[in-house]
Amino acid sequence: MQKNIAVIHGDGIGKEIIEQACRILDKVATIYNHKFIFNEVLAGGCAIDKYGECLPNDTLESCKKSDSVLLGAVGGPKWDNEPSNNRPEAALLRLRKELGLFANIRPATLLQELRNASPLKDCILDKGIDFVIVRELIGGVYFGEHKLENINGERVATDGMTYSASQIESIARVAFNIAQNRKKKIVCVDKANVLSSSRLWREVVESISKEYSDIELSFMYVDNAAMQICREPSQFDVILTENMFGDILSDEASVITGTIGVIPSASLSDSKELANNFGMYEPIHGSAPDIAGQNKANPIGAILSVAMMLDISFNLKTESRAIIQAVQKTLQDGYRTGDMMSPDMKLVLCSEMGDRIYNNLQ
Ligand code: NAD
Repeated sequence: MQKNIAVIHGDGIGKEIIEQACRILDKVATIYNHKFIFNEVLAGGCAIDKYGECLPNDTLESCKKSDSVLLGAVGGPKWDNEPSNNRPEAALLRLRKELGLFANIRPATLLQELRNASPLKDCILDKGIDFVIVRELIGGVYFGEHKLENINGERVATDGMTYSASQIESIARVAFNIAQNRKKKIVCVDKANVLSSSRLWREVVESISKEYSDIELSFMYVDNAAMQICREPSQFDVILTENMFGDILSDEASVITGTIGVIPSASLSDSKELANNFGMYEPIHGSAPDIAGQNKANPIGAILSVAMMLDISFNLKTESRAIIQAVQKTLQDGYRTGDMMSPDMKLVLCSEMGDRIYNNLQ
């Protein structure tokens, strides 16, 4: 198989982790006789430094022409004073919008090897953690109207949260399709006691659920969901939610499974079927300016993101499983980057973690 992959290292630790992820793809190509052609393009702070804009047109066009996109992370304090439409994070929002990536899939699975890195008690972890957050990615408050006005001599800021029924229907179908291959349980997370957008979510999701009679659907307010994710995470199978709630809850979900450094994500553009879907793959963490350039970052989130890419966009299930097994073997051997270090484990740098996973991949 031959595939073109647009690669955006981005800022901060982006370069360090994506280097390791690309080495893993190279090894998969060698073992399984594929050809992955990397097209490196700039977005985020590094693009502002070189071209004055966070998302150059060439980058967008290269992504559109590719079979999938691999992204590290963007942002950092250096660019905090850029105008809001040219901040590094704006590149990410525009990429998602222009590529139609409305469905963000974020798994939260407890790897037994990382139990010690989780802040939760054993009695909670014993029941296991294995759920997926299906987050709407190109609607809601992040894409609503943002205003800063002067009203009666006072500054007033407004951020609008807008959802159409068709937007909700598309992401709901992704969640129902995913649930059909899992434990067939969806919790739709919202704030329907306050927000009218949430009430529309409930109406639409409920009506779609009639087409999926084998799936058990329930609703939960987001404040309760934030509590339940650490109180009893084993109750969840698929969490379906809007953009901002998904953003926040998935960081919480990452920390209970050990560290934000190991969680991958896929952002997809088609709700009909998961296989052969064009997607952008990235770890869920940011550019971690506090450890950038020190070779301390955990590359596993990026490496598992390429495993997701092979599984979902290229339908290469065996290759994807081989990467996951190589990661698990490395963790079983006791190697840890600083973010997931616990007593008796062997501390390694980003590049050594990459080497060990590379060597365990077969
Ligand atoms: P962050 O995820 O970058 O960092 C939060 C904490 O987690 C930090 O202590 C960091 O050191 C640690 N961490 C994150 N990834 C790690 C890894 N792979 N290995 C080890 N430790 C890791 O979040 P933040 O500090 O809120 O944001 C920093 C910058 O990243 C900001 O500019 C923000 O806007 C941006 N950001 C970008 C993305 C993205 O590109 N998708 C996502 C979130 C934040």
